[in-house]
Amino acid sequence: MTKIKFLGTGSLEGIPSPLCKCSVCESARKKGKDKRLRSSIYIEFNDKTSLIIDCSPDFREQVENFKIPIENIFITHGHYDHFSGLGELSYLIPLYGVKPKIHGKKDVVDYCKEMYGYIPMNFSSINSSSFKIGNNLIELIPVIHAKNTSTSGIYFNNILIIPEIYNLDENIKKSLKDKQIELLIIDATYYKEQVYKDHFTIQMARDFTKEIGAKRTIVTNIWHNTKTHELLTKEFKKDLEIAFDGLTIEI
Ligand SMILES: [Zn+2]
Ligand SMILES: [Zn+2]
Repeated sequence: MTKIKFLGTGSLEGIPSPLCKCSVCESARKKGKDKRLRSSIYIEFNDKTSLIIDCSPDFREQVENFKIPIENIFITHGHYDHFSGLGELSYLIPLYGVKPKIHGKKDVVDYCKEMYGYIPMNFSSINSSSFKIGNNLIELIPVIHAKNTSTSGIYFNNILIIPEIYNLDENIKKSLKDKQIELLIIDATYYKEQVYKDHFTIQMARDFTKEIGAKRTIVTNIWHNTKTHELLTKEFKKDLEIAFDGLTIEI
């Protein structure tokens, strides 16, 4: 059994977006499912080892809210909302006596080291297409994201997690069809229109689900300029689930 917990499900600025008066941000101020910290996912494997996907600027609040162990953190790419929470480890390490290992592709780890190398954590560059946490082999899936920024999805035990995506190489898409994905967790920042060339829309996530034949899909990394959690859930419930902070599943 793998346990997956969504520590944060919002995109770049989270929800509410500061000073925004849209209906989603106003709903988020009432603290329901529309309040979203920046994206991060906690995974607890069968063998009780754990991995946190991305370290958001809200990491302090996420540790406080969800009391998660800090053992392994995988950084998908060097965008502010995905790695800057590493700075919080400067006091979390002495406070909790933890020794986190920071995993990522070499260029990502080098960048994290440059920014946060003064904090005594173990940096671990992944120089192949996979890495291991305990007994679990985690495969990296190369993903096209923003201009000059590539990122990684991860695949393990028929679970595919893609925190941010603009597009995917056709050959990789083909290989994913053969993997018999039981659970897909994927970026759906936008509602209908890709405002910038950097993220999927919810409708693209739905099409992608069908294309690779994923059995269950949960979308995350939601932007405020969409609809409320309640309305999105109603609209898309036939095809996918809309994540919210604290959502926990076992698979
Ligand atoms: Zn707003
Ligand atoms: Zn990004």
